[in-house]
Amino acid sequence: MSRLAALVKSRPLALGFAAVAVPLLLVLGLQLWWLVRLHRTSIAAGRAVLTGFLDAVATEVVYSYGPAAERALDVPASLFAQDRLEKAAAHFRKRDVEGVKTLFVARFSSEGWGTLLLYDPESDTMRPAGASDETRAITVGCAPWKLMHERAIQLDSPRLFVEERESANRIILNPITDASARILGVAGMVLDERWFVARLLPGAIVAQMPKFFSEGKEAVVTLRDGTGAIRFSTDPADDRPAEVTRPLEFVFTDMRIGVRNRDLSPEQLARLSLGFNLTLTLAAAALLAGGLAFLLRTAAREVRLSEMKSDFVSNVSHELRTPLASIRTFGELLRHGRATTPEKVREYGAYIETEGRRLTQIVENLLDFARIESGRKVYRSAPTSVAAAMRTALGTLESRLRDGGFEVETRGLDEPLPEIPADEDALALAFHNLLDNAVKYSGDSRWIGVGIERRGSEIVASVRDRGIGIPRDEQARIFDRFHRVGTGLVHDVRGAGLGLAIVRHVAEAHGGRATVESAPGEGSVFAIRLPIPPGGESGPGREPSGEARRERG
Ligand code: ADP
Repeated sequence: MSRLAALVKSRPLALGFAAVAVPLLLVLGLQLWWLVRLHRTSIAAGRAVLTGFLDAVATEVVYSYGPAAERALDVPASLFAQDRLEKAAAHFRKRDVEGVKTLFVARFSSEGWGTLLLYDPESDTMRPAGASDETRAITVGCAPWKLMHERAIQLDSPRLFVEERESANRIILNPITDASARILGVAGMVLDERWFVARLLPGAIVAQMPKFFSEGKEAVVTLRDGTGAIRFSTDPADDRPAEVTRPLEFVFTDMRIGVRNRDLSPEQLARLSLGFNLTLTLAAAALLAGGLAFLLRTAAREVRLSEMKSDFVSNVSHELRTPLASIRTFGELLRHGRATTPEKVREYGAYIETEGRRLTQIVENLLDFARIESGRKVYRSAPTSVAAAMRTALGTLESRLRDGGFEVETRGLDEPLPEIPADEDALALAFHNLLDNAVKYSGDSRWIGVGIERRGSEIVASVRDRGIGIPRDEQARIFDRFHRVGTGLVHDVRGAGLGLAIVRHVAEAHGGRATVESAPGEGSVFAIRLPIPPGGESGPGREPSGEARRERG
């Protein structure tokens, strides 16, 4: 448990990341798994719609022929028993059915085949059948019933039979039986195939289509005969194969109806929706990942900042303590009368003054930083000599440089350069910070170069040292508040990490910028590049960037 607590404390960000990323990946995985399943289901669902539609059309065909044939062929058995077949005309007249080429009755007899009469709707009479393909088909179709009649086989539950041996003359037959279930003959109808193809089937398709397909998304339906030839299509121009086919029932059973979606097959539709859903999911995941990365970056920065702040407090305390200790020591020496000669008094006094100045600079930096952070920092603007500001900074550090044994090489401080509108105190503080750093980070070197020159439309003030230098990857960050190079010799030097943040702010507030060139072990050159306004030194300076403001002094 304590190990877990230690882990949480030492790696809060990594754990936080895992806590969000793992469920996110899990959800993403589940979502993908679900989408793949959905993909398969939607293919099946798409095909089920097509199958359901064909079933409905086939059923409609059965229901169109069955009841109509039952009504039309229900000829009274008495006409057969009493050999009055010609009276069947009255029965057929009353039961007008569509899609029929010929209605007929056949009475079997023991002498010969029997009688076959066809209904002639024009004369409304029954007439004997002449020799024709149709008559032959009827005779062939009746043959099994004739045989059953001869053998006196009983037919207990008479029902309709379909005879399709000749596809041009398909027949529906109703066997007629007497009271003792013996077959007397048959009533039948020869179907009109053209009517089926041109009227009945299209009617069934039109009736069922809206129940299965939304408007504008109708399917293409085809009817193929036993040879595979297309007999009917709702869209003759579309000759792509059907997605789903099935045979017809009851009549025309050698034919198959087929259907396909007009635009996209169930597979294509499912793929399209999978693609869409995948894109959506991945886009959402990418957005979430982006948000997470942003959150982590921000959190990591906050953590680093809070670490830096706590370092800062201890660093500042230490920075304040060193000069305070010196002041106290020299003060005590004076109080105890250890300064016996006027020279000693002056020497101790000078120490106290130097350390006091150092304290003032530290406090000045702190106050400036606080003002910058809160956005209250105001820069005054007056025609300023950059060299003068540099001289002020050198002045405040004079005794430190002297005591440290530094050789300061100056260049261009006495050159006649144009004055620029600037806040001289702010510039002096920035230069002081650069010089202070050069002293602090010089290592064993005791040389500092200070230069002021005009380069084009800029005045460049630089501070050069031959000290410890700064690694390349750190150079961009040293200007950030609280940032201190965390390696090597820097550990030996105390600092709060504010100096360069202030330098950059001052430079940018004056429309310029702060730069560094450095190599570890070789030294560094820090420069503040300040623009000379186009109208000369008296012209207005550029507006400060960021939160810095200026007022005219
Ligand atoms: P501080 O000096 O108080 O730490 P600064 O903001 O002045 O803070 O500097 C930030 C960091 O930049 C320093 O901690 C140091 O690591 C590095 N640095 C600044 N000036 C120099 C220099 N002249 N030579 C080497 N490193 C430097």
